[in-house]
Amino acid sequence: MNRSLKNVKTLIGLFFTVSFVLFGYFGKNEMMNETDSRNATMVSDTQKEVMSTKKIAITFDDGPHPVYTPMLLDGLKERGIHATFFLLGESAQNYPDLVKRIQEEGHLIGNHTFHHTDLKNADTVLLHQEVVKTNEVIEKITGQTPQYIRPPFGSHKDSLEEQTGMLVVLWNIDPLDWCSEDAAGIVRQIEKNAKDNGIILMHDSYKTSVMAALTAIDDLQKEGYEFVTVDEILFE
Ligand SMILES: [Zn+2]
Repeated sequence: MNRSLKNVKTLIGLFFTVSFVLFGYFGKNEMMNETDSRNATMVSDTQKEVMSTKKIAITFDDGPHPVYTPMLLDGLKERGIHATFFLLGESAQNYPDLVKRIQEEGHLIGNHTFHHTDLKNADTVLLHQEVVKTNEVIEKITGQTPQYIRPPFGSHKDSLEEQTGMLVVLWNIDPLDWCSEDAAGIVRQIEKNAKDNGIILMHDSYKTSVMAALTAIDDLQKEGYEFVTVDEILFE
């Protein structure tokens, strides 16, 4: 009798022990799953942030320059970045190998007139000398006619697009790199004004501009900016 009572007690004890262990195991597991799913939500939010990158285009006017354009192209290649170059017809004619290299390395080429001419009062004759002639020089080297024009000083008549059949591309971030020899100051100006769908105006005819551009690219990439050519901003 005592022995069977002892057995019953042992069985009851065993039942509670097993239940306790099982509850502990599954209960804990459930809590872990909840924590895991919370973590998973946090991860996907972070991923979303990374995926919705901001687009920005960096553009270089007045080139190609025999010394600073190759320096810039090396830096862009190292970083896997594509930029937009608004070339002067006169310089393109003088440095065709550089124009070819710009194209071969995947950058976008636009027209910046032949002699850096103000197009504000341009008549048909001037447009031919400055715009058409520049397109012809670039086309002869690259096999492609530029579709984008950046008028020097941003100065042009409203009818320029209609008259040339080209798209005018201005800018919305201007660090005034051409009048500063302070690369760090130029970088600060770019980064302070950087924004989604921004178009940065720079010039590859100065060493400080090239140095500043590469530093700003590194910094802005860390901030989640994706560097694209202007067509990707205009036709997004
Ligand atoms: Zn210019």
